Amino acid sequence: MKGKKPNRKLKLTIPEEEKPVSNYLTASGTFQDGDLLLNKKGLRLKSAVDCAPKSGEHSDDVKGLEFHLEDLETVKVIGKGSGGVVQLVRHKWTGTFFALKGIHLNVQEEIRNQIAQELRINQASQCPQVVICYHSFFHNGIISMVLEYMDRGSLADILRQVQTILEPYLAVVCKQVLKGLVYLHNVKRVIHRDIKPSNLLVNHKGEVKITDFGVSAILASSMAQRDTFVGTYNYMSPERIIGGSYDYKSDIWSFGLVILECGIGRFPYVPIDQEGWPSFYELLEAIVEQPPPAAPADQFSPEFCSFISACVQKEPKLRSTAAELLDHPFIKKFEDKDDDFRILVENLETPFNVGL
Ligand code: ATP
Ligand code: MG
Repeated sequence: MKGKKPNRKLKLTIPEEEKPVSNYLTASGTFQDGDLLLNKKGLRLKSAVDCAPKSGEHSDDVKGLEFHLEDLETVKVIGKGSGGVVQLVRHKWTGTFFALKGIHLNVQEEIRNQIAQELRINQASQCPQVVICYHSFFHNGIISMVLEYMDRGSLADILRQVQTILEPYLAVVCKQVLKGLVYLHNVKRVIHRDIKPSNLLVNHKGEVKITDFGVSAILASSMAQRDTFVGTYNYMSPERIIGGSYDYKSDIWSFGLVILECGIGRFPYVPIDQEGWPSFYELLEAIVEQPPPAAPADQFSPEFCSFISACVQKEPKLRSTAAELLDHPFIKKFEDKDDDFRILVENLETPFNVGL
């Protein structure tokens, strides 16, 4: 029956901000954390689902928040991470595309709580530089998250196509990621913990958005014991590697490494003359013991070199904040390049080989 409603318009409302309330698990297996309800039927934000439709909206529009896995048909698998697969899916009623990220979970209660926190942060995000998580399902040990589909993939996907990203474009990327980080750090008060090229997604409109809070980092740490390590620690700050306390500045280190990698076209800790990657331990030792990497002054502008240096200081206190970096001369220098970046990504192929 649902398939006979092709013109029905699904309006996806971004849920409201969370309120801090204690969490608990009911006898029926529903996990409640504040306004977030999670059970085998899926995840709901009570405040968003229960609220009356605003004027001009149909009640069905608000029900859009309650769609279920059976309403989504798979188009193709578009990515694989350490925790599961990401599929491009189409909502049967509306034809809208989403990315459905499945994460296999075999975790204890406390980790599930952390994941619930991530979901709540995602769902409540009202920031254009953060990937929207419209809905989530938790069933049979798999969390499925219905995410905004970013049709140009991640910065990692883009780097595979273009090898390096020129400074004017990088400044546009930086501006957007920094706005997302300002939101996470200053408004949401969360540390992302896993800033890396595959977690910065791009669409054909030239928008760059941050995705994946906490979940992949949690999975990676639980997998580290199991010999399935795939490099999540590459962008980790020295203070985290040595097991010290860390804060928002840890994200700035990771961000600086990512941007430097985009500029020079290789992971900064892989020496140009060396074949392959350093071993896991060599890498960690290099991050902790060696001076931080820098942009080569003969290939990059002084503004870019100074920007990278402001991010990858080994001493966290010496690193700039996301808000300070937004005012950096490197960002100011290319303030008017948004359209050029949009045209660049518009002309890139979608890395997923799907003709939509
Ligand atoms: P890890 O799991 O080790 O952290 P990862 O970030 O690459 O690695 P996923 O988050 O599962 O793993 O994502 C895998 C890939 O799926 C990404 O690199 C990207 O190409 C694609 N992807 C993820 N989310 C989206 C999305 N919302 N829109 C489009 N593509 C996406
Ligand atoms: Mg990811």
